[in-house]
This record gives sequence, structure tokens and C-alpha cells, in this order.
Amino acid sequence: MVQSAVLGFPRMGKLRDLKKANEAYWGEKLSRDELLAEGKRLRLEHWKIQKAAGVDIIPSNDFAFYDHVLDHIQLFSAAPDRYTKAGLHTLDEYFAMGRGHQKGGVDVPSLEMVKWFDSNYHYVKPTLQDNQTFKLAADPKPVREFLEAKEAGITTRPVLVGPVSFLHLGKADRGQSVDPISLLDKLVPVYEELLTKLKEAGAETVQIDEPVLVFDLPAKVRAAFKPAYEKLVSLQGSKIPNIVLATYFGDIVHNFDVVDEALTGTYAFHVDLVRNPEQLPQVLEHLGPKQILSAGVVDGRNIWKTNFKRAVETLETAVQKLGKERVIAATSSSLLHTPHTLDNEKNLDAEVRDWFSFASEKAVEIAILAKAVTEGPASVEAELKANEASQQSRASSKRTNNPEVKKRIESITPAQYERKSAFPTRLEAQKTHLKLPLFPTTTIGSFPQTKDIRIQRNKFTKGEITAEEYEKFIEKEIKDCVDIQQELGLDVFVHGEPERNDMVQYFGERLDGYVFTTHGWVQSYGSRCVRPPILVGDVSRPAAMSVKESKYAASVSKQPMKGMLTGPITCLRWSFPRDDVHQSVQALQLALALRDEVVDLEKAGVYVIQVDEPALREGLPLRAGSEREKYLSWAVNSFKLSTAGVEDSTQIHSHFCYSEFQDFFHAIAALDADVLSIENSKSDAKLLKVFIDEAYPRHIGPGVYDIHSPRVPSEQEIKDRIEEMLQYLKPEQLWINPDCGLKTRQWKETKAALINMVNAAKFYREKY
Ligand code: GLN
Ligand code: ZN
Repeated sequence: MVQSAVLGFPRMGKLRDLKKANEAYWGEKLSRDELLAEGKRLRLEHWKIQKAAGVDIIPSNDFAFYDHVLDHIQLFSAAPDRYTKAGLHTLDEYFAMGRGHQKGGVDVPSLEMVKWFDSNYHYVKPTLQDNQTFKLAADPKPVREFLEAKEAGITTRPVLVGPVSFLHLGKADRGQSVDPISLLDKLVPVYEELLTKLKEAGAETVQIDEPVLVFDLPAKVRAAFKPAYEKLVSLQGSKIPNIVLATYFGDIVHNFDVVDEALTGTYAFHVDLVRNPEQLPQVLEHLGPKQILSAGVVDGRNIWKTNFKRAVETLETAVQKLGKERVIAATSSSLLHTPHTLDNEKNLDAEVRDWFSFASEKAVEIAILAKAVTEGPASVEAELKANEASQQSRASSKRTNNPEVKKRIESITPAQYERKSAFPTRLEAQKTHLKLPLFPTTTIGSFPQTKDIRIQRNKFTKGEITAEEYEKFIEKEIKDCVDIQQELGLDVFVHGEPERNDMVQYFGERLDGYVFTTHGWVQSYGSRCVRPPILVGDVSRPAAMSVKESKYAASVSKQPMKGMLTGPITCLRWSFPRDDVHQSVQALQLALALRDEVVDLEKAGVYVIQVDEPALREGLPLRAGSEREKYLSWAVNSFKLSTAGVEDSTQIHSHFCYSEFQDFFHAIAALDADVLSIENSKSDAKLLKVFIDEAYPRHIGPGVYDIHSPRVPSEQEIKDRIEEMLQYLKPEQLWINPDCGLKTRQWKETKAALINMVNAAKFYREKY
């Protein structure tokens, strides 16, 4: 029979239970035992949901308190010394790596956190030493959680990140020069030991994720698969469980030679047929003689109901070639990237609700699909019919198509993509207009979202206070925030974004074409979740979205006020996009709406406008080549269209939460933003070298301190950072700002950090 499989389930729980528990633990309001118990409760609940849905193969070890890659760092005893020698409890050491620790005489920053492939999930980067060793942790988590499920009567398939991906996704620690993949020999024996323990515990199969197989891999990494897997493959079924090797978020055809050599001997191979359905015939050709195909047909990255007809066809194609015993119907990737359940959504319009499927519903879908193929369509006739009706309802709905928007897109002229003058002319106009000092200081937009802000917003959403009362409250918050910036002595102010629940949702709520969930949270990093709005139709802006707040802020500020918008690509990428219209079209629609907003801000007296595009990079197709060029061209154009409508004297900023521009520098330059702020405090300042090498003429603010952690950087640390930056950037180019927005921070540490930052800037201002 065709079995159904889920590759991973969201961890947060129905109502972000894990977030609440973690944060209570960090705030010393929950004991360690209570937190551990909550984790256990959530795991059990999630296994039961999948069991009840009829899923045959249910994952374990997909749960993590913070991040699953971080779990593996501890699992292999690969925590850098600075954490292990702090003498913390294992769980606190774990959180210290995830979020830093500044308590009880221990002061360590967190490890670097980066995006998981092209998703908005962040993983903690394995950070390796030249003399790195690995050792299996006592009481290994995958074994413990397998046994936990078993005790509850649920046999699971443990999930591990594979050895090649673990290393390739890691990096050498600061000051170290080790090439991570060279550590493979040392790491594989630890996998062998772990897998042996899993087998002893009763695991028949194990899912090993090697998603790096979808990348263009360096030769050394390609060559690593064979030594990594040869031995493991030979031990399968006897000493260790059968291996289901999983890839996702791309096609693996270009790495088939790697697959051929090492991986056709694994028990099963999983491919993502949602993202790359066209790879199926080649994958079928390349499977080993007995190898099972795990066919990812239910989208782990989006919320649309699966098109059953199409998915059944795909599965049938595989069954025809391989037979039912050699096909598994699976989710395309872990469901980590989808919200927990549609059940919680009481406010969704019935028409659109019927188009959606969240993690719990996807578990049901995959079970239905497996049944449809195993027992024939008649066995699930009602479900197939209902699905078809839903697909048709969406295709023909008025909500999806707006002829006005189409007309406007068709009438865009080339001139609308360009600023009036080139940068040198703009710079002069801005100098006269804004009168900023050398090394101008600013922040990235948000200031702490305090408990009070959340309480008032909640009250307003629930109708417990009037719009007027809420507006008053927001005004007061803005005023306070402006006053604090005045006190701190910053140069370009922001209004602090107290009115924003989220940088995308806030705008989505003010645009036509979007719908929202009440509980559709998806983990972004650690305990932080986002609730991506859903793009269901053509986008337009019925009224100004941010002008009132920015205008007010400007009116009470002595310094230039920076207006704050979320760019078209980020609005697109951090929403669940439509799958019935090309993303480039959705981006242009968003760009036009934002262009109107930018122009309205300028009219309202806001002459510095930041259009955040932190998601620009994650949209980059994972492999180099023409796909990437195409993406960059429409993405850059959308940004330019949204920002080019202003006068020369108005300064356009943009912000990115990363500094690795090496592979698409020309695109960043093509945005033509007057000032870029980028995350840089935790990466090597050397990354800035590209700006000199390419003679980048415009201004840049590489973040001088990390905002993901409550840790306060000293003035000296910030000066050291600036000193490093000055090796690569001209003094007149350099802005001084934190890595990113401050909304997740508390006021206390925010003020302390910004005082040090402003002092550091003053020091350099005097020096130059
Ligand atoms: N302006 C946003 C903020 O400060 C930017 C956030 C981001 O880049 N992720 O919160
Ligand atoms: Zn950022």
C-alpha cells in the first residue's frame, strides 16, 4: 500500500503555547521542569493530531524548544567552549547559544542565526573550531523522544539533519579557519552511534534530511556524500534503521551523480514535487532498484488546499513505475512553515476559508491522498469531489480578479522606475535639506513593543476601547519615543512603529487583496512567530496606510523623521503568496500601492523614507543561473517602482537583515537607494569589502550591534566595530545604527545600548 508521511509538524502548539512557555521560563516565571513538561505535552498533542488524521508515518525529533539545528549542535557536543565552560544547565546552555545569556556572571552572545533556505525560519548556525571534536550527548534527544512517543502508543520516524547538511550549513567560528565539511570523518561515527541507539530503541526507519542537495554544491561537499553514507547504507536494517533520505525546497536533478554514488542505496528517497514537479520522471529513472520514492505532494510552505486531482496524478505516475509498495505520499517538506490548524479561525470568510489548509488539515490531506492511490478514487469519492469544488470556487471567484489593478499595471512607464536625478545630485539636495552630521545615527524603525502596547492593541481589536482612545494612546507612544530619541541624541528619528502588529500584516490589513488569520502563526526564530497575511487576490490601496502616524511624529520632532514602509518583495515573501498568479505580478501590484504611499508621505512632510526589504535575499532562487537573474530583475524593478516617485531632496533608505551580498551585489546596487542599512554586527566586517571593490557610491549603515539578544554592547565594542567598518567604507558613507528593529527588546537595554552607540558615533565624528 501507499503510505502517508508527514516530514515534520509545527512546534508552537495551537495557541503558541511553546512561545508562552519559553518566554515564561526566560522571565523566571516557569520552572525548568514545568517547561520540559510543556514540551512533552505539545509533542504528544502533535503526534495525536497526526495519528487521528490517519497519517501512517509520523515524525519525532521534529520538535525543538528553540531550533532543530541547535538541537543537533548539542546532540553532537559541538557547542563552542564559551558556552560549555559557563557551567550552565544543559537547557540554559542551549538557550544561551540561541539567544545569548547575560545573567549570574555569565555573559555570552548568541550564535549566528540565519534563514533556513529560502524560508522565513531561522536556524542557529553550527559554529565550528579548528580542533573540533564531536561526541554523542548522554540521553540523546532523538532516542528520548522516540521512546516518549512509543510509550504513548505511537511509533514514529525520527527526523535528523544529515551530516553533510549539518556541516555545510555551519561555519568556522570567529578566528578559526576550519572548512566545516572537512570534519565529516569525525562526525559520521557519531551518527552511526546515534542511529544504532535509535534502532535499539525500536525505530525501523529514520528520516535524514539533506536539503543541501538542492543547492549548487562545491565539489568538496558533493564528494562528501559518498563517504558519509556508504557505511550507513550498509548498516541499514540490521544495525541501524532504514534511512529515508529527504530533500526539499528544490530539485536534485543537478546533483544526481552525487545521489547515484551514495544515496540510491538508502531505503527511501524524498523529493519535493510541489516546488519542482518536473523532476519526477528523472527521479524515477534514478532511484535504486529497491528504493522507495517519498513523493512530496502536499505543500509544506503554503496554505492552499492541495489540488487532489493533480496530486493523485503525480502519485499514480510513481505507482505505475514502482508499484504501490514503493511509493510514500508525503508533505513536500516539514509543515513547520504552515500554521497549526484552520480550526482556530473563526473570523475567516467561509468562501476563502474553504480554499485553505493548515498543518493539521494537511495531515488529513496526505492520508486521503494515500488512500486514494491505495484503494482507488472511489474510496474517498466525497473528499475528491469536495476538493474539486473548492478548486473551482477559487478560480472563478470575484475576490481574485480586479480589472482596475490590471489596467494600472499595463500602463506603467519606464520612467516610473527611475529617480529624477542620479545619486550625486540627490546627495547635494539632501545635504541642504536634511543637514545631517558625519556618521549620522539612526535606528531601523521599531522601538520596544511593550506589554502595554500589546494590551491596548488587544483591547482595541476586541472593541474594549474606541478607535479614538487607541489613536490617542498610539500618539502618546510616538511622542514618548520621539522624546527618548531626542534625549539619546540620535540624528534621524523614527516614530517607533507602536501601531504595528507586524511589518507585513500591518500593511496587508490596509490593502485590498489580502486576508488574515487570527491564529495562523508560523515560527520565525526561537519563540518568535509571525502571522503571514494571505494574498488571495489583486492588490490595491484604498487609503493611505502610515501617513497619519509619520506625519504626527514629524510634527513633534526636532530632527528629520524617517517614514517606515515594508517593501513589495518583503510584503510578498512574508505573506502566503497566491499560487495562481506569477509572483512578479503580485510584486508589481504591491509596488504600485507602496509608491502611492511613499509619495503621500513626502507630501505630508516626511523627507526620509525607509522601505524595508529584508526578504529580498531569501527570495533568491537557491541555485545560481537564469532563474536567479529573472527573479532579481523583477524584484529590483518592484522596489524601484515603489520608491522612485519622490523628489531628489527626499532620502530613500532601505534595510536588509543580512550582509552577504557577494552573490547579488549588482542587484543591491541597482536598487539605487540613497542609504542602505544592513545587519553586520555578527558577521565578518570583511563582507563589506564588496562595497569598496565595486566602488559603491551611496551610503551604508552596517549594524553595529546585535538586536536579537538583550545583551548591551559596550561603547568600546561598538567603536571596535566602527573601526573595522572604516577599513572598508569611507567615513562620509557610513551611518551608525543597530542591526535591525528594536521591537523585541526591552526599553532598559535599548536605551543603554543606544547611549553607547551615540557616544561611539560622536567619538568618530570628532576624530574625522
Ligand atoms: N522597520 C522594521 C523594524 O524596525 C524592520 C524590521 C526588519 O527588518 N525585519 O522593526
Ligand atoms: Zn532587519
